[in-house]
Amino acid sequence: MPIQSKEIRLKAYPKGYPNEEDFELTTLELPEPKKGEVLIKNLYMSVDPYMRGRMTPRKSYVPPFEVGKAMEGAAVGVVLKSLNPGLKEGEHVVSMLGFREYFLSDGSGLLKVDPNLAPIEAYLGVLGMTGLTAYVGLKRVAELKENERVLVSAASGAVGSIACQIAKIMGCTVVGTASSDEKCAWLLNELKIDKAINYKKAQNLPHSFAEALPEGIDVYFENVGDVFLEAALENMRDFGRVVLCGMIALYNLEDPKPGPSNLFLAITKRLRLQGFIVSDNLDMREAFLADMTRWIQEDRIVWRETVFGGIENAPKAFLGLFDSENIGKMLVKLA
Ligand code: NDP
Repeated sequence: MPIQSKEIRLKAYPKGYPNEEDFELTTLELPEPKKGEVLIKNLYMSVDPYMRGRMTPRKSYVPPFEVGKAMEGAAVGVVLKSLNPGLKEGEHVVSMLGFREYFLSDGSGLLKVDPNLAPIEAYLGVLGMTGLTAYVGLKRVAELKENERVLVSAASGAVGSIACQIAKIMGCTVVGTASSDEKCAWLLNELKIDKAINYKKAQNLPHSFAEALPEGIDVYFENVGDVFLEAALENMRDFGRVVLCGMIALYNLEDPKPGPSNLFLAITKRLRLQGFIVSDNLDMREAFLADMTRWIQEDRIVWRETVFGGIENAPKAFLGLFDSENIGKMLVKLA
């Protein structure tokens, strides 16, 4: 019997803040798998801030989504039918073919994952690209050392929450920012960071950072940009490192905003500001998985997910990232 599969397509390139009208839900019929193919049923899919960049038709490190076509992104699914000797029915795989309920594949681009090690959805967060992003950012880009003072913005998000905990495991003093008291309480009580700043309540961000880390910041893990970067630059210690991971505060601006206004501090304080893209660092995946699975087994890492149900709610989940709706990884449960 042919399978009916719902998928989310990009209807139009959004201008400024995207809204639900920029996406459409379509149903299509998939044929039976042919020799060499597998039929995958997606169970969870990821929504990520970087997808906003793919909704703008410009050249970047990944091509833009095509209007009228299904969007893409990380997903974890189960093999329903297999005519491919490399994959057995019931095995779980991560792919980049999210935003759809089912798909056919010849097996290329599928990564088998072990559901006995952790719940499968963890392969989209703590054991997936977001966990790896935090690991690469701190270990390779920041070259973080024991006992340093670390500031993480969007600290209760997917990348931020793992970055906070890796820095704690490395014996650092860690301060994080988030948008609510509930998120700050989670950061303090469960992730055991040293201080959490509710930036919505902060009168003066540079002052709040100075209060939280009076000796200054050795490593700033940047997820937000804009006034957060300026406030961090103000408080960096000499020879500090700024890990430019993301700048979500800028992703929906129609015109680029000038700044940071105090970038000259990078000279006087001899700072290193370095951007990175996680997918350039897949050589670190093995070391990351070894460390992360050990930390999980030793109960040194906690994580949370904010889960929307049903593929029709994938646009809502994506938009929620820009409204601070998630604690931990934002996911969509498809089945
Ligand atoms: P998150 O789980 O952190 O979700 C986004 C969070 O950002 C929200 O929950 C919200 O938390 C915060 N936020 C949203 N809008 C604003 C705003 N205007 N001002 C301040 N804070 C805001 O997402 P990810 O962990 O997936 O990604 C975090 C960052 O890392 C993003 O910038 C992303 O682009 C980047 N990234 C970079 C990668 C790379 O390879 N360089 C790979 C993966 C992610 P709150 O407001 O409560 O703090």
